[in-house]
Amino acid sequence: MSDTAWERTRTPARTLPADWRRIRARVLARDRHRCVDCGAREQLEVDHIGNRDDHSVANLRTLCARCHRRRTAQQAARARWSRPETRARRPPEPHPGLLP
Ligand SMILES: [Zn+2]
Repeated sequence: MSDTAWERTRTPARTLPADWRRIRARVLARDRHRCVDCGAREQLEVDHIGNRDDHSVANLRTLCARCHRRRTAQQAARARWSRPETRARRPPEPHPGLLP
């Protein structure tokens, strides 16, 4: 199961199901081995759309490494913003020179 071990190193801090390789292959086949965002056919990864513990094919999509990084950053930013202690903090003041 060296493939599974390899997957685990690429998705740290999350336990993947025993049949992850099969699930992943199904998602890749469904998305025709293309990034659903930009259509790239290389460096494809399978991303969780919603709940990261839900490994059903409906909750997964194919993204290239670049789009995956971008999406993950966006999701992290959104999660940070939705925490009350972050929302309470005021956004940075605009630079005085930019005021009318
Ligand atoms: Zn892409």
